[in-house]
Amino acid sequence: MFKFHMPTKVIVGENCVTTNPQELIIGTRALIVTGKSSGKKSGALDDVISVLENEKIPYHVYDKVENNPEINDMIKGGIFARECQADFIISIGGGSPMDAAKAIGVYATNEVNEGFQPYDIFTGKYKNKPLPMVAIPTTSGTGSEVTPYSILTLHKEKTKRSFSCVDCFFKTAFLDGRYTISLPLQVARNTAVDAMCHLIEGYTNKKASPSSDYMALEGLRIIGKHLNALENGNLDINACTELLWASSLGGIVISQTGTTIVHSMGYALTYFCDIPHGMANGYLVYEYLKRVDSVRVSNCLCALGIKSLENFKEYLKKILPRVRNFNEKEIIDWSEISIKARNVASCPYEVTREMEIEIYKSSLM
Ligand code: NAP
Ligand code: FE
Repeated sequence: MFKFHMPTKVIVGENCVTTNPQELIIGTRALIVTGKSSGKKSGALDDVISVLENEKIPYHVYDKVENNPEINDMIKGGIFARECQADFIISIGGGSPMDAAKAIGVYATNEVNEGFQPYDIFTGKYKNKPLPMVAIPTTSGTGSEVTPYSILTLHKEKTKRSFSCVDCFFKTAFLDGRYTISLPLQVARNTAVDAMCHLIEGYTNKKASPSSDYMALEGLRIIGKHLNALENGNLDINACTELLWASSLGGIVISQTGTTIVHSMGYALTYFCDIPHGMANGYLVYEYLKRVDSVRVSNCLCALGIKSLENFKEYLKKILPRVRNFNEKEIIDWSEISIKARNVASCPYEVTREMEIEIYKSSLM
């Protein structure tokens, strides 16, 4: 038995925001949630504002979202949404603003008080439905525009943790390749590797199904067409559009399967060393794959158009620079946190803390 659920409408193509105002405007007062620069640099914020002004929809812009959003900032965002009396959210940016929009949407309608404590967001069950939301991704990586997940930084636990809520699926996702052209090359590479990891971790996941398999291999095939462009830095509008679609396929896949230890082990690299999310996954995915059933691995490599696992490792090494050295003590500490993650159980093989230490060591030292 398997289930397939993906309630987000996806619109792909140039100018899809300005040509579909009825899909963008899903309420009477908008809150635009974006990062410090992604909305402006991508050009998406101007497009959204022009649609809202044309249609005379009042709006406020919340552009304080930091990378790897932190729970207290989300609560502040929820208070701001209530002050503005926003009844829908337009999220513009990479995974950080999209995940932030989901959390702000929950805190906007569920005030933090004695009955609803900050960490109750991780239960995924709320008295009031979050604000309805639409998403405009400006990176091609997380697939957050089509997932029910939001990943937040928890200083108390020194890691990141996700919540999932069916009402946090965006109503519509607008994929316009023009919005990712402005990405710095290293961010484009990191985020493409994140998408690649979602597809690989979904395909090799214990919860993989015929529907997720089909989309995972298609997503990898699309990314495979653009490996050279990602390496050389010549990503044109066609490549950007296709990479956005592949990234959404990755999001659809992990919405069905979840991720694996590549992600949960990667959180430590992001939390403790500020290594971007996709880059962290890319450091770890080879050692993860080395332990996976060889047929599944060769299907992934074949879809990507890469001859061997060693060639895959070489490719990742070329596009993901080492930004720091690592030592054994920190690796042992991180494994204590990462082994507790929920997605350890989704791995296609049994994972122990010793194995995680081994994977960290072989990947990083
Ligand atoms: P990001 O943190 O959203 O953005 C990375 C950087 O790229 C930021 O500095 C951002 O600038 C900049 N940027 C974004 N779009 C740009 C554009 N078009 N032009 C120029 N600069 C641009 O990166 P991300 O990799 O997309 O998201 C990572 C987050 O997503 C992590 O917190 C991760 O845990 C989460 N995630 C979520 C899911 C999910 O299913 N929900 C899955 C995987 C990962 P500004 O900050 O200045 O705007
Ligand atoms: Fe990811």
